[in-house]
Amino acid sequence: MIGNKHKIPFLDLITPHTELEEELTAVFRQALTSGGFIGGPLVANFERDFADFSNSKYCIGVSSGTDALRFAVMAAGVQKGDIVITVPNTFIATTEAITQANALPDFVDIDERTYNMDPEKLQEYLETQCDMDKKTGRPVKRATGQPVTAVIPVHLYGQTADMDPILEMAERYGLMVIEDACQAHGAGYLSKRRGHWRTAGSMGHAAAFSFYPGKNLGACGEGGAVTTDDEKIAQKIRILRDHGQSSKYFHEVEGYNGRLDALQAGFLGIKLRYLARWNENRRQNADRYNRLLKNIDGLRTPFEPSWVKSVYHLYVIRVEKRDERQRFLADNHIATGLHYPLPIHLQKAYAYLGHRVGDYPISERVASEILSLPMYPGLTEDQQERVAECLRA
Ligand SMILES: *Cc1c(COP(=O)(O)O)cnc(C)c1O
Repeated sequence: MIGNKHKIPFLDLITPHTELEEELTAVFRQALTSGGFIGGPLVANFERDFADFSNSKYCIGVSSGTDALRFAVMAAGVQKGDIVITVPNTFIATTEAITQANALPDFVDIDERTYNMDPEKLQEYLETQCDMDKKTGRPVKRATGQPVTAVIPVHLYGQTADMDPILEMAERYGLMVIEDACQAHGAGYLSKRRGHWRTAGSMGHAAAFSFYPGKNLGACGEGGAVTTDDEKIAQKIRILRDHGQSSKYFHEVEGYNGRLDALQAGFLGIKLRYLARWNENRRQNADRYNRLLKNIDGLRTPFEPSWVKSVYHLYVIRVEKRDERQRFLADNHIATGLHYPLPIHLQKAYAYLGHRVGDYPISERVASEILSLPMYPGLTEDQQERVAECLRA
């Protein structure tokens, strides 16, 4: 046993809530006494504040990050049978959103250092696997004849994908871009094209956020949001989340029960005031890990390019003998995670897509070596030193 026996949790969902107990219960009381449980000012206020935070014109609160992705894909105009491109190294919600919008997920591999979509692989896909349809000016996958209409870059672990080349290709090929920003609330991207920093969620045609409790901004339950600058997309999502209603009991389309609870919106509005500080704490903790874990044989700390400001939703290292090391940490009461142990294209759920081991070698290699260390704003120096000691041992 190294150090003391106190458990180091993977994340802490208790301290931030007990610290904010007064403010959070005031929201609950407001809802109880007003009866405003769905919609109303709590939702509208949070939507306005989160749009501001994400540098977007519109924010539409929905019931989860998965709904946010699905509604964004549908509102972006993806049609039945279209191909939507994403990466294999993500949470399954990204591809669920694609298939549930009746489209087909296809993949391009990730960058070995950032673990995010490799723009060169996207270019290669569009240039070598697709033909240009003369009528629509859009790419069509040669093997199946299906149109490729959208791309979902995932800002994994709190770090934005390299958006300049992705957006540039999307313009050239007429693709819609939906950011999966579910792990990247407040992350920054230095755009060379624009010459300034941009915020995750403000770069694509639309972006999806999750407020699952463990995310950088988490609800006290389920929640999500779409951000966009496109008024038409915003309006479509408002309709989709509410049974396709344009006004009460008049349904333009079949929609979903996908609204954000007023209570959750109220809680999120309170917590949003602390998010910038919490993200800064996560960055400081990442810096400290980087120093503590320097020069450990067979261990690589995360690569944060100069053009990214990560919000470290997760702090993910790469190590040899990953499983052994994870067990050793667990024996020393240190909780860790794997994000994600099996790439999407090899999941049983997607056996029907017919992918094989070796199709996306970088995602596959990375999946067997990554290890997510404890990361949350209140993580202490002592705790991080113990984690480092165990990794060094
Ligand atoms: C959490 C997450 C989602 C889904 O969000 P839910 O709110 O759990 O539905 C989608 N994509 C990524 C990358 C996520 O981390």
